[in-house]
Amino acid sequence: MDAEDLHAVGRVLSSGYLAQGDEVRAFEQEVATYIGVRGGVATSSGTAALHLALLTLGVGPGADVLVPSFSCVALLHAVHLTGAEARLVDCGPGDVNMWVDDARRQLTAATKAIIVPYMFGRVVEVDAFRALGVPIVENCAQALGATINGRPVGSRGDVTVLSFYATKMITTGEGGMLLSPAEELLRDARDLRDYDKRPTYRLRFNYKMTDLQAALGRAQLRRLPRFVGRRQEIARRYQEVVGGRVPVFTAPRDTDACYRFVLGVQDVDGFIAGMGSRGIECARPVFRPLHEYGSGVTCPHATQIFRSAVSVPLYPSLGSTEVDRVVARLDDVLAHIEPAGKEVMQTAAGSV
Ligand SMILES: *Cc1c(COP(=O)(O)O)cnc(C)c1O
Repeated sequence: MDAEDLHAVGRVLSSGYLAQGDEVRAFEQEVATYIGVRGGVATSSGTAALHLALLTLGVGPGADVLVPSFSCVALLHAVHLTGAEARLVDCGPGDVNMWVDDARRQLTAATKAIIVPYMFGRVVEVDAFRALGVPIVENCAQALGATINGRPVGSRGDVTVLSFYATKMITTGEGGMLLSPAEELLRDARDLRDYDKRPTYRLRFNYKMTDLQAALGRAQLRRLPRFVGRRQEIARRYQEVVGGRVPVFTAPRDTDACYRFVLGVQDVDGFIAGMGSRGIECARPVFRPLHEYGSGVTCPHATQIFRSAVSVPLYPSLGSTEVDRVVARLDDVLAHIEPAGKEVMQTAAGSV
């Protein structure tokens, strides 16, 4: 947060108009222009945007939706909120992103959509999923600012969703957005987003963003290129220290948003404790693979990556002395810690 952010929120507070209004419309337009799609619909969260995305694609009871196991449980909630079933898809070998070969195997006649996230801001080949012939929800919640051929990602899906939760690439505290090239779909999402003054009844929601949040989002969006640049800088620095010693699932590429820096070790809890005792908080980057929530299916790659993956602090406001400290502690802890097993090593190396 900086003075621009404070000023933006202060301006809305003194205007007296706090709920969804002109700031939200301007934010939607600015994000859509940045990504290069027709329009956006701002929402109260990324989960709300995902829910609306599925509804506008006609997903409901009797349908199924492909969802990667190695992701965020919000995906499962969004599918179940529509009454549809989720079919869980494995990661690629050593790759944190969804595996198109497994997605092809999971397709059924009832598959109405595929949710494709850019895990940890790593560019995923959305076009390979498009080729499966099912509508795509491009989930850029962790990847706003990542690029393909120099252009921001987010314009390849039938619908794109973003999250502006506190830790995401830009934030509005909580918030999200759905974007699409299809005017009709955008209109439907706007109709579902709130419930007031409608001549006919259907099930609608209160998924609105406030002008307070949108003003903050607009100020943040202006600094997005700086945020991405700084994240990439820090990720490259970490890569220099740990690359070659342990596998890195997010080895930085110019295209990536570098939302997280995720490495692979044998003993994740030992690594977290070692870094923690040296004053650096690290965490598993995915709380639990979704197939482990009693789905009865197995996703061997997701399981293997989950067992060894650990993420170290990476965010744009980290100063250079803080980064130096993380690097020194990493250097220290990695001297006593085994890298992830050979299988993960080989597969992760293959994905770099
Ligand atoms: C954060 C996130 C979401 C959910 O967004 P919320 O704003 O927390 O509801 C969904 N998918 C991915 C990949 C995310 O990172």
